[in-house]
Amino acid sequence: MIQVKGYAAQKASAPLEPYSFQRRQPGEHDVVIDIKYCGICHTDIHQVTDGWGGSVYPMVPGHEITGVVSQIGPKVIRYKVGDKVGVGCFVDSCRKCGPCQRGLEQYCQEGMTTTYNGFERDGKTQTQGGYSTKIVVDENYVLKMPENIPLDRAAPLLCAGITLYSPLSHWKAGPGKKVGIVGLGGLGHIGVKISHALGAEVTVLSHSLAKQDDAKKLGADKFYATSDPQTFANLKGYFDLIINTVSSGIDLNAYLDLLTLDGAMVLVGMPETETSVGAFLLAGARRTLAGSLIGGIRETQDMLDFCSKHNIACDIELIPIQKVNEAYKRILKSDVRYRFVIDANSL
Ligand code: NAP
Ligand code: ZN
Ligand code: ZN
Repeated sequence: MIQVKGYAAQKASAPLEPYSFQRRQPGEHDVVIDIKYCGICHTDIHQVTDGWGGSVYPMVPGHEITGVVSQIGPKVIRYKVGDKVGVGCFVDSCRKCGPCQRGLEQYCQEGMTTTYNGFERDGKTQTQGGYSTKIVVDENYVLKMPENIPLDRAAPLLCAGITLYSPLSHWKAGPGKKVGIVGLGGLGHIGVKISHALGAEVTVLSHSLAKQDDAKKLGADKFYATSDPQTFANLKGYFDLIINTVSSGIDLNAYLDLLTLDGAMVLVGMPETETSVGAFLLAGARRTLAGSLIGGIRETQDMLDFCSKHNIACDIELIPIQKVNEAYKRILKSDVRYRFVIDANSL
């Protein structure tokens, strides 16, 4: 076994504390990755606090992992020692079902193996995430990191980046399309950069005007505060596509009204409560309400190549692991510009 240092929550809502544990020796197709950086996703907070239910402890969170390959199994063909690599939200899937065959492993019918807060395919070995020094992953679930993006600023692409890239591609954001991004946090800020690079007109809908200047620098064409009721009057019927990244429950009906004929709103934010939706708002302009979950391995690699080509990196605040609990508190206050990334050297 490989000895690993990390930080874990021992039970629901417990602060993260130092935790030592073991990873498996690399199997034939495994790579061992020395973790350099790991982004802090709001999902980590939902899961540490058991906000969605079903969490398993002790929990080492983290699914925006970048690092360097330090060892490979005998049958590994894609990677060699020294390669810069990444790991996102899942580390395995059934590999046989329809979605897996189509490269949409995140929608695996048997359930993907989440990077942490889940179990390996054996159903009993707990998975542990990237707030740690090393991880062992099957090479088919490892991403190749672009050379021109530093590993710390690239880490959040592995979850936040793909979560926005996938629906923006699927719903064809591009020239002539009006895209609205609701919530300018980790997901939202990268959504602005990707939408802009795709050639769409991009508007940020944020709960106050505090992030207006930042949004323009990130590439937003327009910015509105949702605390101002006039915003909803001004933008009625305006957008072709709205991506909602907000982590708490908001009035979806107010946002559906901002879609044009045949417009779509895609939920990527995963609040802990449910909200109701009015049929008239959907039917009245043949609108679509959809959801989207991260992206498959192939699409994640496409996203990394796209970001490399367009020089898209995340705006981050690099922190030592000892500041993780404080970072969680700041994220809950929307006080992050725009992603905390843990420097694994501090472990
Ligand atoms: P984050 O950095 O905390 O950003 C969320 C943003 O939502 C905040 O910055 C804030 O933006 C806005 N917001 C938060 N609370 C609000 C409230 N009560 N009312 C109005 N706006 C509020 O979080 P994140 O890491 O981007 O994640 C966002 C959500 O996406 C989480 O629920 C996470 O679990 C989920 N997620 C889903 C996927 C997926 O595959 N679907 C992947 C990753 C994460 P403003 O300050 O601009 O208003
Ligand atoms: Zn995430
Ligand atoms: Zn499957």
